[in-house]
Amino acid sequence: MQVDQSNTSQSNTSNIASTQPLLGDRFRAVAEASSDLLWMTTPDGIMHEDSPTWRAFTGQGVPDQDGRTWLDAVHPDDREQLEATRLQGLATGLVYEVECHIRRFDGIFRVIQVRGVPVRGSDGRMVEWISIGTDITEQKQVQANLQRQAQLLQVQAELIALAHDAILICDPENRVVAWNPGAQLLYGWTAQEVVGQVTHTLLATQFPESREAVDCALAQAGHWEGQLIHTDRMGEKVIVDSRQVLVRDQTGQPSAILEINRDMTKWERLLSERAEAQAAEMALRESSRHMHEFLGIASHELRTPLTTIKATIQITRRQLIRLLTSPEISEPATGNLLPTILDFLDRAERQVNVQNRLVGDLIDLSRIQTNQLTVQLKCVDLATIVHEVVEDQRILIPRRTIQWGTSVLQAEVLADADRVSQVVNNYLTNALKYSEADKPVTVHLEPLGSMVRVSVQDRGPGLTPAEQKRIWECFYRVDSIKIKSGTGVGLGLGLHISRSLIERQGGQVGVESEKGKGSTFWFTLPLAPAQPLNLVKYLETVPYRHR
Ligand code: ADP
Repeated sequence: MQVDQSNTSQSNTSNIASTQPLLGDRFRAVAEASSDLLWMTTPDGIMHEDSPTWRAFTGQGVPDQDGRTWLDAVHPDDREQLEATRLQGLATGLVYEVECHIRRFDGIFRVIQVRGVPVRGSDGRMVEWISIGTDITEQKQVQANLQRQAQLLQVQAELIALAHDAILICDPENRVVAWNPGAQLLYGWTAQEVVGQVTHTLLATQFPESREAVDCALAQAGHWEGQLIHTDRMGEKVIVDSRQVLVRDQTGQPSAILEINRDMTKWERLLSERAEAQAAEMALRESSRHMHEFLGIASHELRTPLTTIKATIQITRRQLIRLLTSPEISEPATGNLLPTILDFLDRAERQVNVQNRLVGDLIDLSRIQTNQLTVQLKCVDLATIVHEVVEDQRILIPRRTIQWGTSVLQAEVLADADRVSQVVNNYLTNALKYSEADKPVTVHLEPLGSMVRVSVQDRGPGLTPAEQKRIWECFYRVDSIKIKSGTGVGLGLGLHISRSLIERQGGQVGVESEKGKGSTFWFTLPLAPAQPLNLVKYLETVPYRHR
């Protein structure tokens, strides 16, 4: 018998026949030692010889007379194909290979790869098939699993490519490894352009806290979520909701960072536009409320002095008529009547002044709003201006204590003297009217670099930080703050006008205050060029204007 693919030569065999085992014995020994199945059939497929490996695998007995029972172990679905392949092998005389299911001794069908090798006799005719079967069930399962995984990966890759979100894979040093079309759409760079670049540098990432905080969360919790601001290729800001996960390898070392960024720019813009619109609407409502209040107060306050003026004029007129038409009025009675008339005229004049101030404020407001408020700048002495206002108020309200403290004798500034007086007057009358009558008010003047600062300090109700911001708006009045002394009028215009006036003269205004502890309203004005300050400790007892 001769195995087709053997290169054993006839002469070699005869030379060593006496010392070597017979070829058939060696073949059987190899067959028994092999983990593969090995069986022999005639060219017609009849198992004519016992095969221990076949028996061990299938649990079948030694082949019967028929020699075809071995086929019972082959799955019925595979028999036809096995037969067809064998016939083909027979026709071609070539080695054939086929996969089929063969039932194991435990009844389980295993996938066996069968290799049929034709064996020819010395006359060249085929005498038998040697079939070698290898159990490839596990290998097939591994292959199927790999195929399934490959398909899954393919689907996932397609999904990632489909996503509108920017999906990035980075190495642990934040260098881009993968960049999906969503990222290209959002940021403008293609994957080829960004691979290898550090994302935070490329996108100029602005973190909610810091980069360290994000890195720390990733290292400790393995994930991070939050809002980031990126800059795209065109230099535009992009606000994203970002989710990041740190991937570790089997040894626990960080191997990648997965990042999904959802564009929230439009949404955030909408939110902020809505907030702005709401704020604008609130401001509009508030301003219209103030306007209504203002109209109510203004019409009342404009009419009140008029009523008093009208009444005093009527009384004065009656008194004068009495004087002129009653010759019988005695001299002493005339002497009594004249001071009363004078008193009424004084009262009328005071009311005219009040009204004058109100109308003046309204005119100033209209000029501010039409940008027509002008100031006449001249070189004037701020110390003199401020001190004169203090003195006027002292004369007007002698029962109030107004302290005047300064180390500046003379402070030449480029300013409009009347307008500066108006501001000091506003600060001072506010300080007096919003604080109790027994509380002193202090006016300071002090140098501040190239500026001079004037401040009016009271021990009145004080203002919260929010109120401190808003009192400079036009018509704004703090509801809870009432006039404590005097009968001043409050239209909520004085501070607004004061700020405009001071800013037009190159200065600034401000207030330092604490609720319940009083306020210090201040303004600064720039010193006139090349005018050094004349600093002298001012003596409060000597009236300034007479020095
Ligand atoms: P008004 O004519 O109402 O006093 P202002 O513009 O001068 O108008 O002031 C605006 C508001 O600021 C006042 O209505 C008052 O509520 C508050 N205010 C001004 N000065 C003081 C102050 N010295 N102490 C406390 N509140 C003040």
